Amino acid sequence: MRYAVLSDVHSNLEAFEAVLADINRRNIRDVLFLGDAVGYGPDPNECIDLLTASCGTPIAGNHDWGAIGLMDIAFFNEYARSAIEWTSGVMTKKNRDVLRTFPLKVEYEDKDALAVHATPKEPGAWHYLFSLLDADTNFEYFNNKLCFLGHSHKPFIIEKQPSGGLMTYKDNTRIKKRSRYIINAGSVGQPRDGDPRACYVLVNGGEVNMIRVPYDIESVQNKMRKAHLPSALIERLSRGR
Ligand code: ZN
Repeated sequence: MRYAVLSDVHSNLEAFEAVLADINRRNIRDVLFLGDAVGYGPDPNECIDLLTASCGTPIAGNHDWGAIGLMDIAFFNEYARSAIEWTSGVMTKKNRDVLRTFPLKVEYEDKDALAVHATPKEPGAWHYLFSLLDADTNFEYFNNKLCFLGHSHKPFIIEKQPSGGLMTYKDNTRIKKRSRYIINAGSVGQPRDGDPRACYVLVNGGEVNMIRVPYDIESVQNKMRKAHLPSALIERLSRGR
């Protein structure tokens, strides 16, 4: 079974197109999306259009909810908040309605996998899963072999072995028969692990790989300047932080 898992596009059309082109080159048609289609970047409408055309059942992230008023953006930092306010102002009525249909989680029986944006324990509370302790707790809240999530924009793979032991992998691993996994797909449109290239997950048979794809960062930054989006958000794209 071969499929791709994408998260946190954040209105970055150039990164999204580059990732989809890479997926296409590999002849993969099955694409999962883990939330945060919008926020931060300059092309929310174009990204939602492309998302609904290319991904099966996209799920919602906190920025998607913020942009359509389903969560209080007072909890966002000032840059995220100002980008969400800008996003709400330019989004079409049709796309607001589209975002509203995105569920908080989806179970894929054929893949024995759960997809959430934040955590399987409380997907709508938008907690971050950073530590092994967080991971250990969250393994109790799903029964599938695989759980894909995003939200932190930092890719990782955590394996829970039948003995209960936890192992972490950065870029790839072979899926073992009796282990279960939490896999953070990183971010297509705003990576924060120090590598500015777009990131997505490729599941190829029994292997999971983080794929990095270069894209035209400058062109996105120019659009962001024209839209008067916060300069901190513009600059971080070149640093991948
Ligand atoms: Zn995000």
